[in-house]
Amino acid sequence: MSNDTDDDAEGVSQETKAGRCQCGAVSYSVNGPLRPVVNCHCHRCRRITGHFMAATSALVTDVEVTDSGALSWYEAAEGVFYGFCSTCGSSLFWKVGNRPERLSICAGTLDPPTGLDTTVSIWMAEVSDYHLPQSGLAEHEYGR
Ligand SMILES: [Zn+2]
Ligand SMILES: [Zn+2]
Repeated sequence: MSNDTDDDAEGVSQETKAGRCQCGAVSYSVNGPLRPVVNCHCHRCRRITGHFMAATSALVTDVEVTDSGALSWYEAAEGVFYGFCSTCGSSLFWKVGNRPERLSICAGTLDPPTGLDTTVSIWMAEVSDYHLPQSGLAEHEYGR
């Protein structure tokens, strides 16, 4: 653990976080603040993740991806990209063309403990009928 860096950026932890896909062909580290987790229940995230996407987010410049060539990007709609491991199929990332400075990261791929909280569910209008509501979360019918 290196605690001797100048991490004085307004109380935000600059601790490096690491994550990877299930098989390890794609791994990454994040050297900057992570946003609280947002659960996206939109129809695309529902199908691609098999349930919903629980994603944190970081500045793309803070994320270093180590990729053996397995990271693939699927453009689900114009300018909407899902990053996944083409070896094991893990969902890893999400990005949109009109916000190229941010990278969403599927929170379950981070090595625990993440120190993150889940704060909000979005696109509740598109949940499937089997979905059980989660108490304590703010809900938005669409995006926010
Ligand atoms: Zn993999
Ligand atoms: Zn979504």
